[in-house]
Amino acid sequence: LGTLYVVATPIGNLEDLSPRAARLLGDVSLIAAEDTRHSARLLRHLGLTVPMLSLHEHNESARIEQLDERLIRGESIALISDAGTPLISDPGFVLVRELRARGRRIVPVPGPCALVAALSAAGLPTDRFLFQGFLPARTGPRRQRLERLAANQETLVFYESPHRIRDTLKDIEAVLGERHLVLARELTKSFETFLDGSAAVLLACMESDPDQARGEFVIMVAGAEERVEADAASLEADALLAALLAEGV
Ligand code: SAM
Repeated sequence: LGTLYVVATPIGNLEDLSPRAARLLGDVSLIAAEDTRHSARLLRHLGLTVPMLSLHEHNESARIEQLDERLIRGESIALISDAGTPLISDPGFVLVRELRARGRRIVPVPGPCALVAALSAAGLPTDRFLFQGFLPARTGPRRQRLERLAANQETLVFYESPHRIRDTLKDIEAVLGERHLVLARELTKSFETFLDGSAAVLLACMESDPDQARGEFVIMVAGAEERVEADAASLEADALLAALLAEGV
C-alpha cells in the first residue's frame, strides 16, 4: 500500500519549505493540490515535474476512489494546499477522514501554519487558545458567533482576508469591547507586520495607513478576564469578613 503524505508548504517565504517536504514532493507519484496552477510555481521553484491533480472543496469527495485506487496499487501521494498546512481552513478533511477509516497510512509532514506562526510571536497566552478559522462573512452571523465566544477565557484566533478585515474589527469592538488584540499581517513575507492594541486603535492605524489593511491576516484577541471567579472570590472574602466582624474577632 502507498502512503498519503499531508505536506505543509510555505505561507509566503519559500525558504520555509522543509527539506523533508521537498524530498517527499519529489518522491511521490502524484501531488493532490488545492489549485494546481498555484502549486505549479512551487514545483517549478523546486525543479520538480511530478503529476498533479486538483483536490478542492467542490471535488474532494469525488476524488476519494481515484486516490485510494492509487494507494492500493502501492503509489504514494502528497496532499498540499495553496499555503500552509492542509486541512487547516483548507481542503483535505473529507479525504483524510475516509482514507483513515479505510485503514490507509497517512503521514503528516509538518511545517508552516499561519495560526501557529502568529501565536508564536504575538505575546498573548498560548497555553490555551481557541482557533475559529474564518468568521462568517456577513455582519449578523459574525456578531452572533462573537457573542458565543465573548465569555471564553482562551486567546481567540481568527483568519481574515483584506476584504473583511475592517468590518470584522468593527464587529469585534462592538461585541467584545475593550480587548487587547494582536494582528499579524503578511507573515513571513516582505511586509510582515504585527500591530497591537484595541480594535479601535487597529482601525485607526488602517485609517491613517491603508497599506495596513492589505494582505493576509491572523487576528488574535485576548480571552475574557476571569471576572466571574474574581467576583465570587471577593464575595466569599466579604462574607468571611462580615462573619468575623459579627463574631467580634
Ligand atoms: N492552511 C493555511 C495555514 O496553515 O495557515 C491557511 C489557509 S486559509 C485558506 C488562508 C488564511 O490563512 C488567510 O486568509 C489568512 O487569514 C491566513 N494566512 C495564510 N497565510 C498568511 C500569512 N502569510 N500571513 C498572515 N495570515 C496568513
